[in-house]
Amino acid sequence: MRAIQADITTLQVDAIVNAANTTLLGGGGVDGAIHRAAGPELLDECRSLGGCAVGDAKVTRGYKLPAKYVIHTVGPVWRGGNAGEEQHLANCYRRSLEIAQEHGVKSIAFPAISTGVYGYPIEDATRVAVATVRAYLQENQSAIDVIFCCFSQRDLAVYDKELAR
Ligand code: ADP
Repeated sequence: MRAIQADITTLQVDAIVNAANTTLLGGGGVDGAIHRAAGPELLDECRSLGGCAVGDAKVTRGYKLPAKYVIHTVGPVWRGGNAGEEQHLANCYRRSLEIAQEHGVKSIAFPAISTGVYGYPIEDATRVAVATVRAYLQENQSAIDVIFCCFSQRDLAVYDKELAR
């Protein structure tokens, strides 16, 4: 596990994770950036998937992206912390890794799911992300290379601090 500061659409990894919404029909933030970079065929494939529940994930091809796959997951909207947000966010990371493993993915990059428009506080979200991925890799004795792709320097500092704990 490591954290970097980058635009996730540029990464040469087997799979990138998209912080999508339940429709899977595109949105702003990282979702918009991924659809723009992948090209219109990504939306065509997403239309065939019938949406996605919060905490679940679905996979598509990457089309024009360097990544072979996009794993679309739907994070929770932050409602103050007592609406199951932590469990939902943990499920996003867990399900994404399960699907990655099913597809033989050796390297995967996650954005900071839910911490943009969905309002999840970055420190809390980072704790969930790192703990969930760490536990998954241990439980499954998985050697998958996990990159936490931060958009801002500030987010990267939060991740680096959490990874060093
Ligand atoms: P959500 O709706 O799940 O909050 P957002 O896309 O609004 O999703 O934000 C999630 C995170 O993705 C934020 O930290 C945001 O800064 C980051 N982000 C936005 N664009 C990119 C990008 N091109 N690459 C990596 N991260 C990005």
